[in-house]
Amino acid sequence: MRVPLLDLKRQYGPLKSQILSAIEQVADSQHLVLGPQVEQIEAGIASYTGAGHAIGVSSGTDAQLVLLMALGIGPGDAVITSPYTFFATAGCVERLGARVVFADIDPLTYNLSVQDLGRALAENDRVKAIIPIHLFGCCADMEPIIALAARYGVPILEDAAQALGARHPLGAAGAIAEAGWYSFYPTKNLGAFGDAGMVTCRDAELAAQIRRLRNHGMEPRYFHSAVGGNFRLDAIQAAVLNVKLPHLDAWGEGRRQRAAHYRSEFHKCGLDAVLGLPVEPWAGTGTSEHHIYNQFIVRAPKRDDLRAFLTEAGIGTEVYYPLPLHLQECFRHLGYKLGDFPEAEKAALETLALPIFPELTIEEQDYVILKIREFFGH
Ligand SMILES: *Cc1c(COP(=O)(O)O)cnc(C)c1O
Repeated sequence: MRVPLLDLKRQYGPLKSQILSAIEQVADSQHLVLGPQVEQIEAGIASYTGAGHAIGVSSGTDAQLVLLMALGIGPGDAVITSPYTFFATAGCVERLGARVVFADIDPLTYNLSVQDLGRALAENDRVKAIIPIHLFGCCADMEPIIALAARYGVPILEDAAQALGARHPLGAAGAIAEAGWYSFYPTKNLGAFGDAGMVTCRDAELAAQIRRLRNHGMEPRYFHSAVGGNFRLDAIQAAVLNVKLPHLDAWGEGRRQRAAHYRSEFHKCGLDAVLGLPVEPWAGTGTSEHHIYNQFIVRAPKRDDLRAFLTEAGIGTEVYYPLPLHLQECFRHLGYKLGDFPEAEKAALETLALPIFPELTIEEQDYVILKIREFFGH
C-alpha cells in the first residue's frame, strides 16, 4: 500500500464539474481580477470567521505583507514572532526593514511561549506587533497573549495561514485579535487552484487602507496616496474558493476524526507514551474545533529513522520545519545562535507530520499506524 501525505485529487474529483463550471463562468465574464467572485469570497470568509473585514489578496504571504505595510511597520520597528513557523511569517517583517525578534515556543502546542513572549516584550523597544501563529491548525494561547499585548499597548496579528476553521474559545482563529490572515495555498485547509490569501481585521479604516495598498495605493484610478503593490486576488481563484467554502466544516470534521483515530489507536498500543501527540489545549471549554489538524504532528524518538522506515513502506511524511528561523542563513545578521530557542530547536529535530486529510481512508490510516507500531516494536 502507498499512503500519500496529502492527495488533492481526492478532493477535486467529486467537485470537478462544479469547479470547472465556476471557472468557465469567470472565463465567459472576462472579469479576471477582483470583481464579484472576490467580493463573494471576502463576504464568505468574513461571515464564516466573524471577522469584521476580509480582504482578498494574492497569497498568505502577501496578506501579511500588505497588513504590515498598512500598519506602517518599517525600519526602526521590531516585531515579535516564533522561530518555528513557515518562513513567510518572519520574511515579511524583514522585507519591510523592521527587525524580527524571536520568542521561543511552547513544547506541547508548538505555538508562542507566553513566558518567552513576556521576556521578549520586556527586552525590546519599539515593538510594533506580536505575531502568534496558530501552527498546524492549533490555536495559540490567546488569552495571556492578549493580556501581555494590552500591557505593552502592542497589536496582535494572527498568522492563521494553517488554521482556517479552527476555533478558540475567544473566536475563530484569525479573527480573535486586531488582524490576521489566511493562506489558500492548495495544501491549506481551504485550497485555491494556485496562490491566494485573505487579510482580516477589525478596524474599518485599516481595511480601507489594505484595499488601497493591494492595488498600488490607488484611489481613484491612477491617483496614488500611498505606495502599495499588486496584491490583488484573481477571480478564478476566488471562484474555486466559493465552490469549496461550503465544504470546509465537513472537511475540518474529517481531519478531526482522523486525528481522533490516530490518538485512540496509539493509546491502545501504548504508543501515546512514546510519541508526543498533538495536544488539544481547550478541551472541555465547549469549543471542540480549537485544533483543525492542517497537520498531525508527532514528536518521535529516532525521528529520522522512523521517517526513512515509513518512506520505505510507501508512507508520505514531512518535517515541518527542519531548521528554525533564527538559525537560517538569511537571518544571520540578527545575531541569534544555536541554543537561543531550545524548544524550537528540539521541535525541529523531533517532529514528524503524518498523513492527515479528510479523504484519507481508514485502511490507509491503519496501515500508517501498523508501520509505526512495527518500527517501535509495540
Ligand atoms: C502557508 C503559510 C504562510 C504563507 O502563505 P502562502 O499563501 O503560501 O504565501 C504563512 N504562514 C504560515 C504559517 C503558513 O503555513
